[in-house]
Amino acid sequence: MNREDTLNSLKSHSPTVLIIGGGINGVGTYRDLTLQGVDTLLIDRADFCSGASAASSRMAHGGIRYLENGEFRLVREAVQERNRMIQNAPSLVKPLATTMPIFKTFSGLFNAPLKFLGWLDKPSERGGLIIKVGLIFYDAFTGKNRTVPVHVFDGRAKALKKYPRLNPKIRYAATYYDGIILSPERLTLQLLLDAEKEGSHARSLNYVSMLNATGDKVTLKDEVSGQTFEIAPRLVINAAGPWIDSTNRNMGLATHYVDPTKGSHLVLDNPELRQAIGEHEFFFENKDGRIVLIFPLFDKVMIGTSDLPIENPDTARCTENEVDYFIEMVGRVFPGIKVSREQIVFRFCGVRPLAYTQTKNAGQITRDHHIQEDKLGSLPVYSLVGGKWTSFRAFSEQVTDRALAFLGLPRKLDTKTLPIGAGKDAFALKTDPIFTRAEIVSMAEREKIVHLDDLVLRRTLLAYLGQLTRPLMVELSIALGDSLGWNGEQKKAEVVRTLAILADRHGVRL
Ligand SMILES: Cc1cc2nc3c(=O)[nH]c(=O)nc-3n(C[C@H](O)[C@H](O)[C@H](O)COP(=O)(O)OP(=O)(O)OC[C@H]3O[C@@H](n4cnc5c(N)ncnc54)[C@H](O)[C@@H]3O)c2cc1C
Repeated sequence: MNREDTLNSLKSHSPTVLIIGGGINGVGTYRDLTLQGVDTLLIDRADFCSGASAASSRMAHGGIRYLENGEFRLVREAVQERNRMIQNAPSLVKPLATTMPIFKTFSGLFNAPLKFLGWLDKPSERGGLIIKVGLIFYDAFTGKNRTVPVHVFDGRAKALKKYPRLNPKIRYAATYYDGIILSPERLTLQLLLDAEKEGSHARSLNYVSMLNATGDKVTLKDEVSGQTFEIAPRLVINAAGPWIDSTNRNMGLATHYVDPTKGSHLVLDNPELRQAIGEHEFFFENKDGRIVLIFPLFDKVMIGTSDLPIENPDTARCTENEVDYFIEMVGRVFPGIKVSREQIVFRFCGVRPLAYTQTKNAGQITRDHHIQEDKLGSLPVYSLVGGKWTSFRAFSEQVTDRALAFLGLPRKLDTKTLPIGAGKDAFALKTDPIFTRAEIVSMAEREKIVHLDDLVLRRTLLAYLGQLTRPLMVELSIALGDSLGWNGEQKKAEVVRTLAILADRHGVRL
């Protein structure tokens, strides 16, 4: 259904469930509910994935520092979900080496007990000892389902040999692994499109907002045409992230579920810094315990992030003070590399929908998620509070299970190992997650490919970048051949032909 059809369908047919908010938590829940056959409408007043979900630091991570807050459940769940994202969406979520430069040995040992006693407002900088202990726990949480290597802890000399531009005042450098979400926007869209393959019971509309609610009717507004219309769902899921409380207020519910904090990022065009970090994220802390990260994002460098209380999420912007802070922080870790404002190609800022607590320090507010339930007359409203990008699947599962119980329906399908994206069974090529099968099929259809070597030598850089393997060649010949109508013999012949060309002309022997 196109946008017009979807809007028209709502006049005659109200959905069973209305989800307000097309960020990762709304879309994750939409996918899960529609997979179970539930008639669901998802709306967003702006574009999908344009709120907090677009502003994240792109880490699929367990959150090693939350161990210090005693949040073992959260870290274990997020590590498992990180692994699942790497497995289920391999072209968009990849393992990421994360290196922590460490300037002290014993500092920070008492952060956790002082936090526990409520005597710590600002944590002190973590030293080598406490970081080592944290990394041992962190690795253990991965369990048997290992998608990334275990951590490595280097002394000063070895670390400086590996990363020669690092500040020579470091004492250690620890490298552990998390994941990078290359495009949170695309990943969200893929989940949404997966949902819509399930049938016409899955309907979604961007640029449609929830205006208000009366009785069991909810009024929506098409932000494109300005028209308003009513629907009568049996359940409302408020997935409006940092706007949860204002959305509830619009429906007549006075809630205080979130205490948002804003976080900013810069994207820099600084080839020297890009080269110095290689394919590693550098993750470190300021003297007051605040976290800063320097991140390889394709050929650019991303720097973030702040954690500052904010009242109105609509006003969040990256300020000049934050820019100064980020630039100063890079200087602490890579003192010989000049970073300046002219190198900034992009800034972005977003607001974390953190659960309301009495905690004084933003960094200590839990990143865990939970559901709050209210009633509009007899209409239940679930508010999705908190959460991390990384744990969206688990949170969506929790919400869906609760909704299914309310609707008296069984769960038909589990999402734990469900691939994300086109092609389902072969979403990304198994032997090389750089290309999805759908992308290969699309190239075959549009880019005048006749032979397998056209694909590996000229339509892609696979051969140039040394990324070819025999299993990949076989898989490519199948994906391409299925699209071009090759039989089994032709597919084999194309592999033989390409291997010969690679060996003869390019010195590549596979
Ligand atoms: C700076 C920053 C860095 C982060 N880094 C990471 C990280 O590296 N890793 C990680 O795992 N997590 C990270 N997070 C956390 C993660 O991004 C968020 O927890 C998550 O994206 C929240 O998603 P959401 O769907 O709940 O909210 P959002 O993505 O904000 O979605 C809510 C949507 O609701 C819509 N909406 C609001 N009101 C209405 C209305 N009345 N009608 C219709 N639609 C409405 C909005 O337009 C918005 O699109 C970070 C967050 C921030 C802000």
